[in-house]
Amino acid sequence: MPYNNDDGRGFDRKMHQGDWKCSKCSAAITELPFEPDPERLSQLLCRDCHRQKRASFTTRRPYR
Ligand SMILES: [Zn+2]
Repeated sequence: MPYNNDDGRGFDRKMHQGDWKCSKCSAAITELPFEPDPERLSQLLCRDCHRQKRASFTTRRPYR
């Protein structure tokens, strides 16, 4: 077999389990689609807040 199937196909979404907290709404975060930077743990956002942030970003509303 030419392929190394050890870790799936290399394009799988790898979820990182952990015990974090959203910096905005304080919701518990147990799973992230990326490996959080230890230095940015205090800036983590849960899924909802992250989506809101992206939404407000794309609508280009002023920051306040
Ligand atoms: Zn949140």
